[in-house]
Amino acid sequence: MEPRILELRGEIDRINRELLKLLSERARVAAAIGDIQTELGLSHYDPVREEEMLAYLTAENPGPFSDGVIKKLFKEIFKASLVLQEQEDKRKFLYSRETKPEDTKVRVRNAVFGGEPLVIAGPCAIESEEQMFSTAEFLSRRGVKVLRGGAFKPRTSPYAFQGLGVEGLKLGRAAADEYGMAFVTEVMDTRDVEVVAEYADILQIGARNMHNFALLKEAGRLHMPVLLKRGLSATVEEWFYAAEYILSQGNGQVILAERGIRTYEKWTRNTLDLSGAVLAKQLTHLPVVVDVAHATGRIELMAPLARAALAAGVDAVHVEVHPNPKVAMSDNNQQMDFDQFDAFLKAIGDLLKPAAARS
Ligand code: PEP
Ligand code: MN
Repeated sequence: MEPRILELRGEIDRINRELLKLLSERARVAAAIGDIQTELGLSHYDPVREEEMLAYLTAENPGPFSDGVIKKLFKEIFKASLVLQEQEDKRKFLYSRETKPEDTKVRVRNAVFGGEPLVIAGPCAIESEEQMFSTAEFLSRRGVKVLRGGAFKPRTSPYAFQGLGVEGLKLGRAAADEYGMAFVTEVMDTRDVEVVAEYADILQIGARNMHNFALLKEAGRLHMPVLLKRGLSATVEEWFYAAEYILSQGNGQVILAERGIRTYEKWTRNTLDLSGAVLAKQLTHLPVVVDVAHATGRIELMAPLARAALAAGVDAVHVEVHPNPKVAMSDNNQQMDFDQFDAFLKAIGDLLKPAAARS
């Protein structure tokens, strides 16, 4: 090797090492700023500050690199620190497996979310004593441990049946007690949290309220399980952030429910995002439910998709069951009658055993 090149390369190596030291030092200082921003709830990305730095760097640029090249190089450096800080933030999220590697189990009466796979079933809306008790009796005989039923219903039209309210809560509670089941029901309004919590074992926050931060915070102040549905158009990240709202208030009993997202598809009510459910299992430590009823709106799809979800490792599947769906006051087409539920259960039965017991 030409000795002049060798010598200059030695010089380059020395400069590289200095640059590396300076870059690392810069990253540490940027991280210290980032920690303060996190503490204050401020964004790490500050475009005004970036402009300011690029302005003096180009003004003081001695060459030979053009201002454009200097800008590009420094923008990469800024971005690297930002990515680092965001990764750091994510590691601290309470929902994250990096914060808590082991699975969270949520125990509700006889049911354990995160234990043996569960089925949540019951009518879309609580309509009468007869309807609720006959459904609970039927389901409990088949080993279903969690009874659902809406007393406060989020309806697309304000003129549609809005649910029986507190009367419905009482019926749901009584039916669940009579048959030894846990009772999950939706709360839509911060003003109703207290009364719903009085009757329910699990508070459901529905898809339409996943972004209702006041409601999430209120649910976070309770010490009871919360079933958090993914919003109609929410990204997986937004869904996790919604869970974080509850967790950050001190309530660790959050169960995530994927219930289908809105897409251009018209032949199913929503599109089941199974990858979202699996991501929830992998990236969070929380139990995950797949609601195949609202995800599809089509009974013939529910067993195959429940099988797929259970095979993928989710903790529970969720369906709607009504003694006479034709006359149901909401979601007629997606509620199973008793025979349909029996067929559903038969079709998924092998996957309801704990994974270790499956042949
Ligand atoms: C429900 O489970 O009753 C319901 C309304 O579901 P979602 O919020 O997922 O639409
Ligand atoms: Mn429904």
